[in-house]
Amino acid sequence: MLYGGIEAGGTKFICAVANENFKIIAKGSIATGEPQETLAAVYRFFDQYTLSSLGVASFGPIGIQPGTEDYGYILQTPKKAWQNFNLLGAIQTRYAVPTAWTTDVNAAAYGELKLGAAKGADSCLYLTIGTGIGGGLVLNGKIYSGFTHPEMGHLFLKRHPQDDYQGSCPYHHDCFEGLAAGPSLEARTGIKGQDLPEDHPVWELQAFYIAQALISYTLMVAPTKIILGGGVMNQEHLLKKIQCSFKVQLQDYVVTPPLAEYIVKWGLPNESGIYGSLLLGKEAIV
Ligand code: ADP
Ligand code: ZN
Repeated sequence: MLYGGIEAGGTKFICAVANENFKIIAKGSIATGEPQETLAAVYRFFDQYTLSSLGVASFGPIGIQPGTEDYGYILQTPKKAWQNFNLLGAIQTRYAVPTAWTTDVNAAAYGELKLGAAKGADSCLYLTIGTGIGGGLVLNGKIYSGFTHPEMGHLFLKRHPQDDYQGSCPYHHDCFEGLAAGPSLEARTGIKGQDLPEDHPVWELQAFYIAQALISYTLMVAPTKIILGGGVMNQEHLLKKIQCSFKVQLQDYVVTPPLAEYIVKWGLPNESGIYGSLLLGKEAIV
């Protein structure tokens, strides 16, 4: 059996095919353009295989309540051509196989739980800190959702007293994403995140905000493990700074697992989402 997976991102669509042993035997990356041309390339990729399932993990917000009108749709994204686009419907029309549908970060959380940093656990929270910030939660083996999927990146935080950056979120300005996603590093310093030296003071701010968000997640759901991924986490020193700030700000109010085990980096760098989509697709086979 061959399982298909799509991680549909605002920059690129990653397509992969895995075999019975969950080894990825083919992988392709397609630049995200207009829906029709992007999907044509996706079809060219998958048409080469006889798939048993297809898991789709998409950038959001998306409609995830089965039975509702917008199920399978990408909703009010700033990417105009993809607004209210029925991505799952298009895929299902092309491939008559069982499908799964969730957000990119939900799939990444699931991939990390089954095959990555939370392997063996039954719950974890995954957070990506990249161009944007987003998170997914797996609770007792199931991806958590309420009336819709969580939007953990838009948490409202307490500002650092020395921070006067207005924030970049078009909806809230200084929510978590507005204050701490990758572009905030360049907006504050004039230097791209990847080029900033380790001793730059902006990292203290960055760690302060990320730690604060992790404290809120901890207080609300006490996840077994928090897994951090995304481009900004490529900064080797940042994890330690986050763990330290977490401890200082939480003031030991909650006895968490040891921080070196509780707040960790992704176990499947850049691949959590695609593995999650492959797994969810497989599990859609009844
Ligand atoms: P996306 O979120 O678009 O899927 P990434 O997770 O790679 O992509 O995140 C891209 C963001 O991460 C950009 O804002 C980029 O400047 C930032 N970034 C990438 N590498 C690093 C790094 N080594 N240090 C800090 N920031 C980085
Ligand atoms: Zn926001």
